Amino acid sequence: MLDLAIIGGGPAGLAAGLYATRGGIKNVVMFEKGMPGGQITSSSEMENYPGVPQVVDGITFMAPWTEQCTRFGLKIEMENAVRVEKVGSHFVVHFEGGKSVEAKAVIVATGSKPKRAGVKGEDEYFGRGVSTCATCDGFFYKGKEVAVLGGGDTALEEAQYLANICSKVYLIHRRDEFRAAPSTVERAKKCDKIEFVLNAVVDEILGDASGVTGVKVSLKDGSSRQINVPGIFTFVGLNVQNGVLKDDAGNSICELTPGGNVKVNHKMQTSLPGLFAAGDLREDSPKQVVCAASDGAIAALSVIDYLREHA
Ligand code: FAD
Ligand code: NAP
Repeated sequence: MLDLAIIGGGPAGLAAGLYATRGGIKNVVMFEKGMPGGQITSSSEMENYPGVPQVVDGITFMAPWTEQCTRFGLKIEMENAVRVEKVGSHFVVHFEGGKSVEAKAVIVATGSKPKRAGVKGEDEYFGRGVSTCATCDGFFYKGKEVAVLGGGDTALEEAQYLANICSKVYLIHRRDEFRAAPSTVERAKKCDKIEFVLNAVVDEILGDASGVTGVKVSLKDGSSRQINVPGIFTFVGLNVQNGVLKDDAGNSICELTPGGNVKVNHKMQTSLPGLFAAGDLREDSPKQVVCAASDGAIAALSVIDYLREHA
C-alpha cells in the first residue's frame, strides 16, 4: 500500500511531491495523465513567480520541478485516475484500463482545463483553426491574421504573444472592461498589431473543408461584422477537473462548492479524512502557480501529520 497517492502533476501536485518525500514519507507516487507540469506549460510567458525575474515560457519554467522531486524519491507514473474511493480507513485509486492502487492518504491536484465558448462552429473546427493554446499552435499562423476571444489574463497575454508571430490579432471581447490585470491590458493596448473588437459577441466560427475561414460577430450597436481569419484562439475561462471525486452514481465523495471546486480548510483537508485537495481545484483558489505550489506544500505537510496520527 502507498503511504501517499498524489493525483495530478501540475505545480500543486509537484510541490506536494517535493514536500512529502523531503518530509520523510516513504512510498509516494504521483499519477499524471499527460506530461507533468500542468496547464502553465501551455503559457507563452511566466513572469510573476517570486525569485524568477526572467520571463520564460511555461514548459521551460516547469522543467526543473519534476527533476527536483524525483531527486527526493517521488515516483511518477503516467496514469489517468478515474475514481478515488475510501474503503475502511484507506483509499483505492482506480485508473483508466482497470488498474488500481491502495493508499493511506490521497492528495488530489487535478487542476482545471480550458472551457469551450459554446459558439456555433467551435466544436466542428476545434483543432482545424480553433485552438486554446497559443504556444502550441501560434506558429501555424506566422505572418497571418488571427482572432482571440476573451477578456481575462490568458486572452490578453496570449494576444500579445500571438502579435509577435502573426501580422494582426483581433481581440474580441463581449464587454469593454477586462478581467485581466490592468498592467496586462495597458501593454496589450500599446501593441499596434492588436485591434480591440469590444462589446462584441461571436455568433459563429466560419469555415470550410480546409478549416476556419473567419468569425461573425454582433456588436452592441446592433451592427455585425465578419472578420476573415484562418485561426481563432478561445480563452474564455477554465473548468475544474473534479471527476475523480465522483462515485459511480455521480455523487462526490467530499464536499464541493456549487461550481464544483473542493471545499478545504486551511490545511487543505477535505471533508473526507485522509483526502486532501490543492491548487486550482480547491475553493477560492487564486489560480496562480505560486498559490498552487503553496497549496501542494501545505497539503503534504498535513499528510505527514495525518499519517503520524493514524499510524
Ligand atoms: P494544473 O496546472 O491544472 O495541473 C493539474 C494536472 O493534473 C495536469 O497536469 C493534468 O494533466 C493532471 N490531471 C488532471 N486530471 C487528472 C487525472 N484524472 N489523472 C491524472 N492526472 C490528472 N499562473 C501564474 O501564476 N502566472 C501566469 O503567468 C499564468 N499564466 C497562465 C497562462 C495560461 C495560458 C493558463 C492556462 C494558466 C496560467 N496561469 C498562470 C495559471 C496557472 O497555470 C494555474 O493556476 C496552475 O497551473 C494551477 O496548478 P494546479 O497544479 O492546481 O493545476
Ligand atoms: P477568466 O479570468 O475566467 O476570463 C475569461 C474571459 O472570457 C472573461 O473575460 C469572460 O468575459 C470571457 N468569457 C467567458 N465565457 C465566454 C463566452 N462563452 N464567450 C465569450 N467570452 C467569454 O479566464 P482566464 O483568463 O483563462 O484566467 C483563468 C485564471 O487564471 C484567472 O484567475 C487568471 O487570473 C489566471 N491567470 C493568471 C495569469 C497571470 O497571473 N499572469 C495568466 C493567465 C491566467 P467576462 O469578463 O465578460 O465574464
